[in-house]
Amino acid sequence: MRASTYPLIDADEAAGLVLDRTRVLPAERVTLAESVGRVLAEDVIAEGPLPAFRSSAVDGYAVRASDAGKTLRVLGESAAGRPFAGEIGPGGAARVLTGGVVPDGADSVVMVEDVQVAGDRVTVPASLTQGSNYHKVGADVQAGDRILAAGTQLGAAEIGIAAATGHALVPVHRRPRVALMSTGDELVEVGKTLGRGQIHDSNRWALLAALREAGTEVEVLGIAPDEAGALRTFVTRALVRADVLVTSGGVSVGTHDLVKPLLESLGTVHIGRVKLKPGKPFTYAALDEGKVAFGLPGFPVSSLVTFEVFVRPALRKMQGFAHLQRPRLPVRLGYDAKPTLDRTEYQRVTLRREGRELVAETTGSQSSSRLMSLAGAHALVKVPAGDKGLRAGSIVDAMILSLP
Ligand code: AMP
Ligand code: MG
Repeated sequence: MRASTYPLIDADEAAGLVLDRTRVLPAERVTLAESVGRVLAEDVIAEGPLPAFRSSAVDGYAVRASDAGKTLRVLGESAAGRPFAGEIGPGGAARVLTGGVVPDGADSVVMVEDVQVAGDRVTVPASLTQGSNYHKVGADVQAGDRILAAGTQLGAAEIGIAAATGHALVPVHRRPRVALMSTGDELVEVGKTLGRGQIHDSNRWALLAALREAGTEVEVLGIAPDEAGALRTFVTRALVRADVLVTSGGVSVGTHDLVKPLLESLGTVHIGRVKLKPGKPFTYAALDEGKVAFGLPGFPVSSLVTFEVFVRPALRKMQGFAHLQRPRLPVRLGYDAKPTLDRTEYQRVTLRREGRELVAETTGSQSSSRLMSLAGAHALVKVPAGDKGLRAGSIVDAMILSLP
């Protein structure tokens, strides 16, 4: 073992440094099918009004309000998509169906329940008022309205309104292309039999899931051996396409830990160690052409916690998200959270509802190799460095992963 030469940076400071250096990716126009969950890069403007015509809200008869109380002649029908071509004059009416065009000359629609029909005659009530039972032109959206603002994440309703206003393509920020690589001579692909001293490459799958959830396109490079030449070949090949390189393992100070020197040779390592538990060896480097590399520690919990703290917010910023962080909610601690003297600690907890409160319980041993401390966890509780810790019963803000 050799001592690391990298300064130990405060965890929040390191997270801020990563975000400051992160750039939002440019826009691309994608189909509505491809736009789900993406973030708009420009405002979307309505070119025309919605509805574009006077649209009946009910099944009934389009009439003139001045004919209230009279028996009228039915001149035709205006169904949805099949408008009545003529005009309604005094004493005239047209049968109109929901979503049908209210014919010219008519200024009111009477519900079918409120009329009396005899052959081609219809008697309308005396209480008829102008403008009833149809949607006016532009009632929902006026031509020129900004219907969706840049920065909006596209979900069902947003995609619906884009389609309703005729936008087949929408401008969204590009998704980050991420190359994902595991390092370590002990690693074997899941599905293959383990030899003595070997373990399954679980980080690949955990990080692939985390990256997909964060909205990225992932290229999985597989397992790189602990050998400098091979590692370099892996990484340089990946960087042709990728915006972001994510590695796991090989960033601590053992003699086989080759990721930091490799990143040094390819760019500038801005972060080499952080005052964080788990995740002290977290590494961040700026490479050529605005690309970046995140060297995550090998221990499974360390890799996922550093992903949460440093990588996920950066990937969200690249995609134009307004909210980069997980939501935070006050929770009551159900246990004494012991601190680590020199490092901020993110402890994994489950939550349960007690009345209006959320109560946090530890997931047990917080060892960075114990993935069971994170599997099923609802939140991370940040325990400040020092000797105080957080007392059972106190209310703290938790970083919510999911709610019970
Ligand atoms: P390292 O950061 O390479 O020193 O690895 C620290 C610990 O994490 C070692 O016990 C490794 O075996 C383990 N580890 C490294 N990479 C992975 C991986 N991809 N999947 C599961 N465990 C890993
Ligand atoms: Mg290793």
